[in-house]
Amino acid sequence: MHGQTTDLVIEAHGLVKHYGAITALAGVSCEVRRGEIFGILGPNGAGKTTLVEVLEGLTRPTEGTARVLGVDVTEDPVAVKSRIGVQLQASSYHRYLTLREILELFGSFYPRHADALELLERVHLRERAGARISTLSGGMQQRFSIVAALVNEPELVFFDEPTAGLDPDARLDLWEIVRSVRDSGATVVLTTHYMEEAQALCDRVAFMNAGQIGALDTPAGLIRSLQAPYRVTATSVTPLSEAGVRGLPGADQVEMAVGPDGHIVRLRAPDAPGVTAALTALAAREGVRLVDLAVQPASLEDVFLRVTGRKLNG
Ligand code: ATP
Repeated sequence: MHGQTTDLVIEAHGLVKHYGAITALAGVSCEVRRGEIFGILGPNGAGKTTLVEVLEGLTRPTEGTARVLGVDVTEDPVAVKSRIGVQLQASSYHRYLTLREILELFGSFYPRHADALELLERVHLRERAGARISTLSGGMQQRFSIVAALVNEPELVFFDEPTAGLDPDARLDLWEIVRSVRDSGATVVLTTHYMEEAQALCDRVAFMNAGQIGALDTPAGLIRSLQAPYRVTATSVTPLSEAGVRGLPGADQVEMAVGPDGHIVRLRAPDAPGVTAALTALAAREGVRLVDLAVQPASLEDVFLRVTGRKLNG
């Protein structure tokens, strides 16, 4: 329909953005495939918003190119506007219009647009069509802001922290809605601070840090790329020797502590069966009784820690 021959909806090459002395983007290249949910993660100030604004055609990069839906947005930002959807913050909507009126107003800007009541139905807000945004709960406002980005039936939608500040139930609802947007054929790019959200929702994830993409893959691929993807916690009545623990094959990030339940060893290990056998053998050799041994697979949080060298809250 749009003469698209490629399955790449975004092709960014060498994006650099300086704000005075601040380098918000320091050479970002990435590709987003048609039909995926692509997550952008990173600490505050990593450059996520700047990258998204460049891709939306709102900000001109200092250097580099970005093709979005086959259009060079750095050359022709207007050409892509009617084909993308952008989620706004709830506070950006007209306070004195009803939900239905806002969607109808937005729709009137586009030659092709979805029916307001059908849109509201998609996010379980049809019965609130006559309400104003200020009378909605936080979760409802977020749902509305999602659907308001779909008015022009976009091929590509940008969601900015779609579940920020929501309780777990409302977050799960939102995830279902984001998946339904992808399943209806649109490509979704979202920023988030929540690791479990990226893991549950995103087909691929880019971790940004200091204006660069530090890692980009599927959540499972990112976790596999960790050298020691298992977190091991062993609790014993008497302590294991530190030399013995540090000598476990592939052991990394070893921490030893004393807690209310006994002596605790925490470490990262490359595989679950190997570390279980080696720890059990070490305890037997040293005459130490293990009272608990937990081995958990790594999560995106561990990837975040590796990429940024710090921990993320939330
Ligand atoms: P957050 O998670 O806090 O939203 P972010 O990853 O989206 O952060 P950006 O908002 O892209 O990060 O900011 C990257 C850097 O660029 C920051 O140092 C920020 O202060 C700076 N920056 C962003 N926009 C502007 C602007 N309009 N003028 C000056 N500096 C800016």
